[in-house]
Amino acid sequence: MHNKSKIVWDKCLLYIRGQISEQTYKTWFAPILAKDFKDSVLTIQVPSQFFYEWLEEHYFSLLKQAVQQEIGPNGRLEYAVVIDQGNKKQKPLTINLPTYPGPAFSGAIPAEKTSNYGNNFFPLNPNYLFDNLVEGSCNQLAKSAAQAVASNPGGTAFNPLMLYGGVGLGKTHISQAIGNAVRVASPNKRIIYISSEKFTTQFIEALRNNNVKSFTEQYLATDLLFLDDIQFLSGKEKTQEIFFHIFNHLHQFKKQIVITSDCAPRDLKGLQERLLSRFKWGLTADLQRPDFETRIAIIHSKIAADGINFPENLIEYIAKHVDTNVRELEGVLISIIAHASLAKKDINIELAKQVLKHIVQHHATTKTTIELLQQQVAAHFNISLDNLKGKSRKKEIVGARQIGMHLAKKYTAHSLKSIGEYFGGRDHTTVMHAIQVVDGQLSKDSHYVMAYRSIENQIKTHASFY
Ligand code: ADP
Ligand code: MG
Repeated sequence: MHNKSKIVWDKCLLYIRGQISEQTYKTWFAPILAKDFKDSVLTIQVPSQFFYEWLEEHYFSLLKQAVQQEIGPNGRLEYAVVIDQGNKKQKPLTINLPTYPGPAFSGAIPAEKTSNYGNNFFPLNPNYLFDNLVEGSCNQLAKSAAQAVASNPGGTAFNPLMLYGGVGLGKTHISQAIGNAVRVASPNKRIIYISSEKFTTQFIEALRNNNVKSFTEQYLATDLLFLDDIQFLSGKEKTQEIFFHIFNHLHQFKKQIVITSDCAPRDLKGLQERLLSRFKWGLTADLQRPDFETRIAIIHSKIAADGINFPENLIEYIAKHVDTNVRELEGVLISIIAHASLAKKDINIELAKQVLKHIVQHHATTKTTIELLQQQVAAHFNISLDNLKGKSRKKEIVGARQIGMHLAKKYTAHSLKSIGEYFGGRDHTTVMHAIQVVDGQLSKDSHYVMAYRSIENQIKTHASFY
């Protein structure tokens, strides 16, 4: 099959090469290897997670066109991301990620997809470890509680462990670090890691297929359950009910439960009181914004991991200006590195300052903008901010939310992942889908275009004040 995959991918490359500059081609497409081709799914291997995200964000449509042209309308792409280069004898360790639109996630992932991950339901990100989590006063309690849980899951007073804090402060990193540590120490323990959004989708699907029993049984049989971004369950009565049931069962059998949330339990609107009261049985730890010294340490750790050097005064400059959260900080570093690699220049202070100036200025308006933008979209459609970020599937609200995501992509520097988080902890594929839907509407519906433009005008007017 290997040859076949290369033939198909080479054809895709030929098409892609005709659409972009030679420099872009060399940077982002030449390093890709064809890995497999089966049942209209082409698997390509990319060198890193960052590479994968970059391709999905910047070249999604191009890749889709290329694949559909060469394979046909059912053609799909999957990525194998190298997470460990291995040595000469061993093959590199990779993780597979479906591109969007893939098959809806339904039930368990087929066994071969999870084979690298023992019994995990959903692959853990192997880069989220305690070792590379920089410690500061912002996360001390959460980290030490998490480490205690990792060394004795279900056996400490911290059950459930509830981690909460704003976007990009390390909730997912810390909870997955527990999972990764347990996986190494006790490979036989069953781990389920799932976002609340996926949990909900799975449950709805199970309802539709009369499958609730086996859906629930999978969860009851786990040794550790991680539920990420629980705020997404707010207002979803039935999903909360089934989760409550699973929670009680696991807790009773001393199985570990780890939950993350973007706000304190008392502020989790739309969650049933009986569920909230369960969280008090364990430990609730919050994550704060990192202080200046911690930001410096984080930058050092990130660039060291990439084997890159930044001058010290540049590091301080970044730490001083980017003070919102770690994800933003990472975004800035990635932009600098990407810019340097695209321009094939060293990162000297001149180049970096030039790039940074743009990012920092952009960034200064960004935080206000995504939040302000959400307010403006909500006001325009006369719905509440909670509804906009919430779970409602009412047509008007879904429509407003999709426009909000589209505008956020257009007018802020946030990644798809980050936008998803600002919109109630949704997945980056959900954001990508929203953007496609809006683009589709904009291309055919003149009323829609007018509504969109009028919000856009407001945003532009306000943004210029900052
Ligand atoms: P959240 O789930 O709270 O939105 P994440 O766990 O996804 O945030 O963290 C965002 C990014 O920042 C991740 O790439 C994560 O690895 C990184 N990160 C967060 N906190 C730290 C830290 N203390 N040290 C190193 N990296 C961190
Ligand atoms: Mg998260």
